[in-house]
Amino acid sequence: MGKDNAATLAKIAQEIQVCRLCRLYQSATKAVPGAGNPKAELLFIGEGPGFYEDKSGLPFVGQSGKYLEQLLAMIGLTRDDVFITNVVKHRPPENRDPLPDEIAACKNYLDRQIEIIDPLVIATLGRHSMSRYFPNGKITKIHGVPKYDEYRAYYPLFHPAAVLRNPSWQQDMEQDFRRLPEVLEKVREMRATRKSPSTPADDGPLTQLSLF
Ligand code: SF4
Repeated sequence: MGKDNAATLAKIAQEIQVCRLCRLYQSATKAVPGAGNPKAELLFIGEGPGFYEDKSGLPFVGQSGKYLEQLLAMIGLTRDDVFITNVVKHRPPENRDPLPDEIAACKNYLDRQIEIIDPLVIATLGRHSMSRYFPNGKITKIHGVPKYDEYRAYYPLFHPAAVLRNPSWQQDMEQDFRRLPEVLEKVREMRATRKSPSTPADDGPLTQLSLF
């Protein structure tokens, strides 16, 4: 299963390398499909590759990547335990926000990655990935509040780069991370007690909101 997951993710990554579905490939150096554990319980979705990601082809390198690693270490995890990707797989020029048509063009890759990895928790980093699951959400209000469907939890987080720019958010970010093991455990229990499997709701309507 792990090997199959890895092979299927590698195939998607190959498609991304040669993708021409939106304009972003034109100004990018390398595609950044995502990286990590093909069977991760925890999937992070950021916004788009930045300067160092574009050079290396890897997600969340540079300062925000280091900070993300520190946050993961706080809960006993490393990059190899999780999967990290973005809503767009090529760097927007000058780190501008990805445009709606670019996010839409790239959506199928992310949908397929989620389907294959089948994470227990999808943690969004920043507002572009957050709006996929919380269309009207305001990050300063909803960060750290998990939303559950019958299959998974969706967990909005600040973007690590935004926290580095706004150190007053650091304490909230760390508290939100420390709550992740509890959210993961809750979904493990939910799945263990389910009688029959149902289709994961990647971005469909969510049926239950829990504030713990
Ligand atoms: S950002 Fe996504 S849709 Fe656009 S060219 Fe890259 S892989 Fe294709």
